[in-house]
Amino acid sequence: MKILLVEDDRSLANLLQTTLNWQHYQVDTAIDGQQGWELAEVFQYDVILLDVMLPKLDGISFCQQLRTGGHYAIHLPNQETPVLLMTAVDTVTNKVMGLDAGADDYLVKPINLDELLARIRALGRRTQVQRSSKLEWGELQLHPKNCEVTFAGKPISLTLKEYQLLELFLRYPEQIFSQGRLSEQLWAQHETPTENAVRAQIKGLRQKLKQAGVKDMIETIYKLGYRLRRPNQESGNRQKSLSLDTADPAASSLMLPASDLWEIWQECRQSYVDRLTIIEQAISALNRGDLTRELQHQAEREAHTLIGSLGSFGLEEASQISRQIQQIFKQELSLGNFEVKQLRQLFEKLCREISGECQIDKPQEIPENKAIYLNYTDSNLLIVDDDLVLAEHLATEAVVWGIQAEVATNLQQAKQLILKQQPNVVLLDLSFGEIGENGLEFLAQLHREYPEIAVLVFTARDNMSDRVQAARLGSKGFLQKPIAPSQVLAAISQTLQQSHQTLSKLLIVDDDPQILKLLEKVLEPEGYHLILLDKAQQFWEVLEQTAPDLLILDVELYGCSINNGISSTSELSGFDLCQIIRNDPQWHNLPILFLSAHTDSETVLQGFEAGADDFLHKPIVPTDLLIRVRKRLEQGKIRRQTELDSLTGVSNRGKSMLDITRLLRLAVRQQQPFSLAVLDLDQFKLVNDRYGHQMGDRVLNYFGQLLNQSFRMEDVVGRWGGEEFVVGMYGISKQNGVKRLEEMLDSFRKIKFSARNGSEFQVTFSGGIAQFIEDGEDLQTLYRVADQRLYRAKNQGRNRVIATAS
Ligand code: GH3
Ligand code: MG
Ligand code: MG
Ligand code: MG
Repeated sequence: MKILLVEDDRSLANLLQTTLNWQHYQVDTAIDGQQGWELAEVFQYDVILLDVMLPKLDGISFCQQLRTGGHYAIHLPNQETPVLLMTAVDTVTNKVMGLDAGADDYLVKPINLDELLARIRALGRRTQVQRSSKLEWGELQLHPKNCEVTFAGKPISLTLKEYQLLELFLRYPEQIFSQGRLSEQLWAQHETPTENAVRAQIKGLRQKLKQAGVKDMIETIYKLGYRLRRPNQESGNRQKSLSLDTADPAASSLMLPASDLWEIWQECRQSYVDRLTIIEQAISALNRGDLTRELQHQAEREAHTLIGSLGSFGLEEASQISRQIQQIFKQELSLGNFEVKQLRQLFEKLCREISGECQIDKPQEIPENKAIYLNYTDSNLLIVDDDLVLAEHLATEAVVWGIQAEVATNLQQAKQLILKQQPNVVLLDLSFGEIGENGLEFLAQLHREYPEIAVLVFTARDNMSDRVQAARLGSKGFLQKPIAPSQVLAAISQTLQQSHQTLSKLLIVDDDPQILKLLEKVLEPEGYHLILLDKAQQFWEVLEQTAPDLLILDVELYGCSINNGISSTSELSGFDLCQIIRNDPQWHNLPILFLSAHTDSETVLQGFEAGADDFLHKPIVPTDLLIRVRKRLEQGKIRRQTELDSLTGVSNRGKSMLDITRLLRLAVRQQQPFSLAVLDLDQFKLVNDRYGHQMGDRVLNYFGQLLNQSFRMEDVVGRWGGEEFVVGMYGISKQNGVKRLEEMLDSFRKIKFSARNGSEFQVTFSGGIAQFIEDGEDLQTLYRVADQRLYRAKNQGRNRVIATAS
């Protein structure tokens, strides 16, 4: 899960980031509202943690801007992302303001880290549930597809507004909606609902629900608004999410270890001492009688920040003292001798708390060489193949990879083993000797009855229709025989590691906002991530920033003219965009679907000539559109598999080069840093020589997975040679890049691999890193510089990462 943290108090940001990283969340941190906004415009997050008082753009405005789509009329990546506001001000007015702005939850500083993590888990889960097509509350069901509401199977008839209200409550079960927020959601900008309009709608909805037999579904929260009550009878859905709670590894794992907390505190303790100077200056000025309003205000703000920050480190006492200091400076009346004395005492106490005996105990040293044994403790593989020799060979190989495998040679046997063993992964052949046994049918059945089992198709059949069928029936991969056992096991091991599938991104360009709205209505409930654009001038920018999986284009794009360099301007059409894409090496494979009111064969032909994959006619027929979109995406998915290196699961050389070039272009335009690292495994030939090539493959596969897990989704990770890898990081300086790599090196060298002969060994890597612009402006130069540093790392004894010139 990916989190955006926007917090201007660097020490607190640091603490939160470390805590979240420790829980294996990916975190991007911004130190002011503007910077946060720029990140939110480009990257997709699962949760946004937002401070309220922020320089440049405050949290409330940030939130409003996010929900309404910002300056452009485009659909932003994070428009629906849950926002958790963090504030030191705990008043009802503030909460209502935040909720009205579109925030989903609140935390009051000082932040209790346990609570923070619990809330993040709840919000993160919601994003995943949100997209599911049917919404339920006990026996009540709402079907967004056909706008039908039923209770115990019987339909309930609602007005449009009542329906929208109900849907809103069901989608955001934990959220309190203020009247203002509801009115904004239910009425368009130009409509002006009366003051009681929301209340009237709620009343109407409640009555209809009551008549249908639904009891007390919506509760009124005094002074705040309305919220969905929990159903009495826990529905299936809820039970599932409850059991998820206990299975959530983050929930049961430890908090940030004392050692980390202690370290961060040591690092920033001095900065706190420095920060006290403002308060000290204010007290001295007050004593001399020349305290200005401005300085008083500054001191108050400083104290205010300290409340939250110190409290989050567990320094309760210091946080309390800061609160008392803040209260005093906050007074409107002029301060006198009494206050001076009080402040002095408090200030001294605070200094002692901060610089004196630290309350966070220094932890015991962890032995440096603590090794981690590599094992998928409870990973079960079922191999379903009528070629017994091949299957058994794979099963034996699997042991080296730490995977338990069973073999079934027909589907009947497979069914029994699935019941008995509950495998995580099934490797499925498609053709069987016995009559009536069909692998694809079995795949469909597995997908229906055991959606949690990942199925990889493993077949000698080589045709496109099998691949498409398999993808459609939910298979996680397609392995073509003949194939080396280590490649099969690499694919299985990658599947076991994959956390969740990413949503498909659709970029839609149409000059008619009504069409965009309509498309959104049809496609959104299907769980696609939509980027809507009605101004083609921004097309390329948006394309590069969002990297969509599919493009839907209108033919006529009125009002979108460009300077063509020859005559003054010319009108841009969808065909032009299509051609530009087909001419660009990065994008030429992107599936493109036209959607147009033109039905004449000439236009259609022109579309295909420009490079379209499909051509649909307006008016939109939803089912048709959905089928075509799905089909294109499936083909894209199959194509993407060819862009991955099969042994390690990272991008292959070609794909990663293109991706790095794209990020470099973005770095130029946005004036952001970009870092390129080259990594090479140390003494890898020895691993092969001593433990066999198979074992070497196993190490490479593990290394690839670790790379994929250690970097952000938008970072590029590629395999460029046998045991040489590159990592491209956008927006990251090389100093930060080195830190990330060193952390990864630290986890990697702790891994103990067990060879077949029982001996154990560990592996390290060396790396060099270069940064755009300092070290070079193009990929070639950056690579050369990073590679030179890699060689220095090798010469200096390996097992290190170097970022400097000498
Ligand atoms: P150094 O620390 O100097 O990099 O030493 P090294 O042994 O890692 O470097 P060298 O370039 O001499 O050897 C690289 C080895 O990596 C040789 C080759 O057999 C092995 N290798 C490359 N690709 C693969 C692969 O796909 N699988 C396996 N098992 N080994 C591979
Ligand atoms: Mg702040
Ligand atoms: Mg090497
Ligand atoms: Mg090498």
